Amino acid sequence: MFNKRVDLSSEQIEHLKSLVTGLVSTNETVLAQHGRDESAIPPVNPSAVVMPQSTEEVSKVLAYCNQQKIPVVAFGAGSSLEGHVLPLFGGISLDLTQMNKIIDVRADDLLVRVQPGVHRVALNEKLANSGLFFSVDPGADATLGGMAATAGTTTVRYGSMRDNVLALTAVMADGTIIKTGRETRKLSAGYDLTRLLVGSEGTLAVITELTLRVFGIPEKMAAATVQFKSLADGVTAATAIVRSGISIARCEFLDAKCIKNVNSHDGLSLAEVPTLFFEFHGSPQGVAEDAQSVKDIVEEFGGSEFQWSTDEGARRKLWQARHNAYWAGIAANPGKRAVSTDAAVPLSKLAEAVTIAEQVLSKHPYPFSILGHVADANFHCFIVTDPEKPEELEDVRHITHELTMKMIEMGGTCTGEHGIGSGKISALIAETGAEAVSIMRSIKKTLDPNNILNPGKVFN
Ligand SMILES: Cc1cc2nc3c(=O)[nH]c(=O)nc-3n(C[C@H](O)[C@H](O)[C@H](O)COP(=O)(O)OP(=O)(O)OC[C@H]3O[C@@H](n4cnc5c(N)ncnc54)[C@H](O)[C@@H]3O)c2cc1C
Repeated sequence: MFNKRVDLSSEQIEHLKSLVTGLVSTNETVLAQHGRDESAIPPVNPSAVVMPQSTEEVSKVLAYCNQQKIPVVAFGAGSSLEGHVLPLFGGISLDLTQMNKIIDVRADDLLVRVQPGVHRVALNEKLANSGLFFSVDPGADATLGGMAATAGTTTVRYGSMRDNVLALTAVMADGTIIKTGRETRKLSAGYDLTRLLVGSEGTLAVITELTLRVFGIPEKMAAATVQFKSLADGVTAATAIVRSGISIARCEFLDAKCIKNVNSHDGLSLAEVPTLFFEFHGSPQGVAEDAQSVKDIVEEFGGSEFQWSTDEGARRKLWQARHNAYWAGIAANPGKRAVSTDAAVPLSKLAEAVTIAEQVLSKHPYPFSILGHVADANFHCFIVTDPEKPEELEDVRHITHELTMKMIEMGGTCTGEHGIGSGKISALIAETGAEAVSIMRSIKKTLDPNNILNPGKVFN
């Protein structure tokens, strides 16, 4: 473990420059861009930023940093929410965004090979020419490398990042280049190293190439909204829909505050009450039948004003607003930062979990809203704090920890999507148990004995 910050000497910087064709920077603005993520956690600048352009360059940089015991924090879009990319012990931020080639689109195999710095939106723009799309969408325009390293994002119908990464090229802490997985849909050969690295938050290896599953763009997409008197009613209806097996592509709930924020941010005029958003994919007849089945169920659970549309413009506008919910919350609170919690519980406990979250947060003075990926029984609380008052962040951290522990007691997890980062280390131990965490530590120690890869994340 590092017990103090590592700042690079001018010789070390010069040596790194000799290893890569891309930029090596100590410019203050560049350092600051790599010293923060989208969380409210105070920034920590790296000592230098290194931008490799190939797997071989990443390998040379890691071999050198391992030998010199320099911490290395892989950096994609920096959109993570638990302090993942903060270089807590200095060293270098390894920015992968210059490795942004879409190497191969293989429509016949329904797969694509990409470098880690490719952004999700750019990939989907390219795939659209072939009638394909990549289904996983965390809400931010993240990089595929960062998405694989944080892993959680799910689409009900198409699966999570873990389901959609078939193979990886990765560079280990000592510079060894490995290939994991195959371009096959099934694989049962040996330990599953692909899934070990997916979700490892840059602590076990640096991903330099990904083979991903893609899907054909559905013939028809439709969107629907339905309103409820309470968040718990909406959630109960949504869980009934999931249990019924109706084919929904996406199903999200937003509380009244979220709706108010997206109305003003995205020019919508939705009623400011708890609302479920749906998306359906399939044939024109299939989506119509699915929407009707959903309407029947939500009405049984007190849903009202069910509105659905196959109009592409209306669908995009609605889902763009859902995407923007985080930014809408920031815009509604100028100058403030947000803490975004992330818990998942067993499906049957979701209504109880959001009710508990509302009760806990209502006891405190911080503005909040709640939204979630209801079909995955995963929800987020968006809690506003003032960055000028660091004591607020400390207080909110205590409150969210209390909430997290309640979710774990209910059989849930401290994170369905965002990962552990530096913010949920104690929750991981509470959830998984010291024995399982000890196995995780020994994997880390075997793969990264000098602890150079993203130190201070996942474990202390
Ligand atoms: C508005 C908004 C909404 C969001 N909604 C969601 C959501 O619904 N679900 C969700 O899961 N997340 C969500 N996020 C968080 C974030 O977008 C995701 O976690 C995303 O996957 C991070 O990708 P990134 O490229 O920004 O990675 P970064 O933030 O740059 O990095 C994330 C982690 O991955 C590591 N890493 C990056 N690249 C590599 C690599 N090539 N090899 C190894 N490790 C690497 C980093 O070291 C770090 O630990 C949201 C964020 C925002 C701002």
